[in-house]
Amino acid sequence: MRSDPAHAGYPPSWYAASVAPLPPQPALAGRVECDVCILGAGYTGLSAAMELAEAGYRVVVLEAQRIGWGASGRNGGQAIVGFGCGEEKLEALVGADDAKRMFDLSLEGLDWLHARLARHGIEAHWRPGHATVPLKPRQQRDVQAMVEHFNTRYDHPVAWWDRERLRETLASDRYLGALYDPISGHLHPLAYALGLGRAAIAAGVQVFERSEVTQLVRGTRPVFKTAQGEVHCDFAVLAGNALLHGIAPELEARIMPVGTYIAATAPLGEAGAKALIGNDMAVADTAWALDYYRLSHDHRLLFGGRASYSGRDPGDLQAIMRRRIAGVFPQLGDIALDYVWGGFVDISLNRAPHWGRLQPNLYFAQGFSGHGVVATGLAGKLIAEAIAGQAQRLDLFAKIKHAPFPGGQALRTPLLVAAMSWYKLRDALW
Ligand SMILES: Cc1cc2nc3c(=O)[nH]c(=O)nc-3n(C[C@H](O)[C@H](O)[C@H](O)COP(=O)(O)OP(=O)(O)OC[C@H]3O[C@@H](n4cnc5c(N)ncnc54)[C@H](O)[C@@H]3O)c2cc1C
Repeated sequence: MRSDPAHAGYPPSWYAASVAPLPPQPALAGRVECDVCILGAGYTGLSAAMELAEAGYRVVVLEAQRIGWGASGRNGGQAIVGFGCGEEKLEALVGADDAKRMFDLSLEGLDWLHARLARHGIEAHWRPGHATVPLKPRQQRDVQAMVEHFNTRYDHPVAWWDRERLRETLASDRYLGALYDPISGHLHPLAYALGLGRAAIAAGVQVFERSEVTQLVRGTRPVFKTAQGEVHCDFAVLAGNALLHGIAPELEARIMPVGTYIAATAPLGEAGAKALIGNDMAVADTAWALDYYRLSHDHRLLFGGRASYSGRDPGDLQAIMRRRIAGVFPQLGDIALDYVWGGFVDISLNRAPHWGRLQPNLYFAQGFSGHGVVATGLAGKLIAEAIAGQAQRLDLFAKIKHAPFPGGQALRTPLLVAAMSWYKLRDALW
């Protein structure tokens, strides 16, 4: 999770090595007044900022590191409609009608993403197509039921590919079939984040980098304090994801930062890459601690997996990721890994999105649960709408109840480790 001066202050990932950084933005110094101050320059914060600036608000974004430094600049790039908890879970939480409304909004989130890429000329190497691949008969039954559910209840045309059909496209014998979604896809996550950052600055947003918020004073005019300055605003937005560290304890108690890791192989060449994933789709399996992977535009395999629930990076990441890749693509042999990096996903207890407001002028969005590339843009848009006076669509999400993780800050990690061990055991057994 380190930063690296050689990569313009970003963790040393293939992403940071394959995109031009933005010019550094100044650190906050002194007192600044604005209409809306946003903590965090990831997809959520930047999306809200841009929408608000375009609507005429004076917007400030405070970022502890650099634009896109958090999960938005390091993720698997899988841009998937829906939410981390799955549609059936959402139905159980809010009822079938609201779950359908939320799913439709996630489709709008994908349209929003495409519109932003097009309008701002962001080259994020978008590729359509996403496969969810079951490993066990129990998972296969669930995935086939999801296909049926998407087609009948959600008007979302996904296909079931049996093992043979999948094998024509994906050179792995590991899976029992696939839910193939033609409209979800993948992109270069840091290029997308930097593109949003560039567009936000062009729209008049003042972004301060290297400006960690150390205190938020709540009230009729909230104040964000950093080491060298403070921002006074009418509305405050918390978009710090898994990295808030003490700014809003009631939010932090409701998410668990879970480490997940990505390896970029050495380039495989166009033919070598196509031999692995013929149609260039993104792939994610259905295990609790899942593998997720895709090809890069320079023909590498970008392979994600190996969750860490302890807050510490696992030991020999190169060896761990090599083993995981070999489990899916043994034909790659001892392929060199040019980059391995990680980041934290913000898992909520029910894995559903946790968006809303803590007081009338204090908004937040978190709990993307590893499913944020599309949903973050939507969250930013809905927060901006709510600040502008149209809160109905954000309030839909505020209906989802979120319990704190049991055990509080001290015990939640051991409890989660125990729970995850059970899920892993279950995945291994049936
Ligand atoms: C390794 C990895 C793989 C993933 N893969 C996928 C995937 O394939 N598909 C998918 O949909 N989702 C994926 N995700 C999740 C997705 O990346 C996130 O849901 C999404 O990027 C969250 O965006 P955000 O803007 O809310 O948070 P972030 O991008 O994390 O931004 C939060 C920002 O807030 C800043 N910040 C925090 N605290 C402070 C403070 N006190 N003061 C100032 N700034 C602060 C941080 O520095 C950070 O830049 C993955 C995440 C990780 C880590």
